[in-house]
Amino acid sequence: MGGERRLLVLMLLGIISGGVAGYLWGESMQAVAWLGELFLTALKMLIVPLVMASIITGVTGLGNVRRLGRMGGLSIAYYACTTFIAVAIGLVMANLWQPGVGVSLALKSGTVLPESGEIGVTDLVLSLVHPNIIAAAADMKLLPLIVFCMLFAAALSTLEERAAPVIGFFEGLNSAMMVMVEWVMLFAPIGVFALIASKLGAAGGGDAFLAQLAGLARYAAAVISGLLTHAMVLCGLLLLLARKSVAEYLRHMGAALLTAFSTASSSATLPLTMEGVRQAGVDDKARRFVLPLGATINMDGTALYEAVAVLFIAQAYGIDLNFGQQLLVLLTATMAAIGAAGIPEAGLVTMVIVLEAVGLPLDGIGLILAIDWFLDRCRTTINVFGDSVGAAVVGRRLEGR
Ligand code: ASP
Repeated sequence: MGGERRLLVLMLLGIISGGVAGYLWGESMQAVAWLGELFLTALKMLIVPLVMASIITGVTGLGNVRRLGRMGGLSIAYYACTTFIAVAIGLVMANLWQPGVGVSLALKSGTVLPESGEIGVTDLVLSLVHPNIIAAAADMKLLPLIVFCMLFAAALSTLEERAAPVIGFFEGLNSAMMVMVEWVMLFAPIGVFALIASKLGAAGGGDAFLAQLAGLARYAAAVISGLLTHAMVLCGLLLLLARKSVAEYLRHMGAALLTAFSTASSSATLPLTMEGVRQAGVDDKARRFVLPLGATINMDGTALYEAVAVLFIAQAYGIDLNFGQQLLVLLTATMAAIGAAGIPEAGLVTMVIVLEAVGLPLDGIGLILAIDWFLDRCRTTINVFGDSVGAAVVGRRLEGR
């Protein structure tokens, strides 16, 4: 307990001092970038074995394949509902703040726009499978890996005693991975310091960042106030549906949330999310199954941000999106968020789907690019919190049966 609190304080100090160092010394903080890279790579190194062991032991632990359908259905329904709520909050905020009204359309010269990666419903379904599971793991394509592990575990649970050594192996792997997560966490305060300092430095230091932020102040305020509102909704769900004390839950999740902010990647944060949710006492089977799924498909923060960003772009171009079009934003932003990978700036790329659906110019993305690295961190924090609340809610429902 004392250790957990100490780690949180050290990580907070790491982030604050990283911000100050990046603000003051700008570009020269690139010298510590490798320390951040080391932390990030160490986290990523754990993801594939952790996801495999966690899903396989989570599903086989259910004891009955039919319960997998129940838990899977419950998780997906919960995640879809909260993503919808998030986009709705984003739409309300964008209509309230009107962030794009009066914004100059001059795109910065040399702006590199993201590739327009189109994703349709069929692409989403096809992304669930991969012809070569080793290649999928090597490329960190988590969704096909999760599907494979679910099917593998379902098959194991039909085999009775012949499956026991295989399940035992994955139980051992799972425990070992959790110990390794604890080791990597020891390095977290230095890692987050380096990530924040070097990123702020690369963005041109404090003055350049503040100038960019001031230019897009209303847009940033709309996104951040939306994210905070959604965080409150999640706290309400935690209290009502999962019956957990919010303060205590946040304390256990602190290290994961700060890591999400520092890395801007919910996949890289997954090992710490698993550890935080374990400490918060969430049902173990739900935790092992629901969290890897959530880190891959559930992105409340991203969905909310995409809604605000798209309305911002429309307003900046002087295009009024009517109710029907905003409804289309609601649907497509939910899909775009599901399609976004848990890696930095993924939401910026999948936003193309939403822009195309309502017929807005893709160049509009150039308007929000400058401060996206910062908002990415804010939305990733909410993505991870949303995943963890999902695990607590599904876990509570399972316990209740
Ligand atoms: N960076 C986000 C995440 O990993 C995805 C995004 O919105 O770009 O959760």
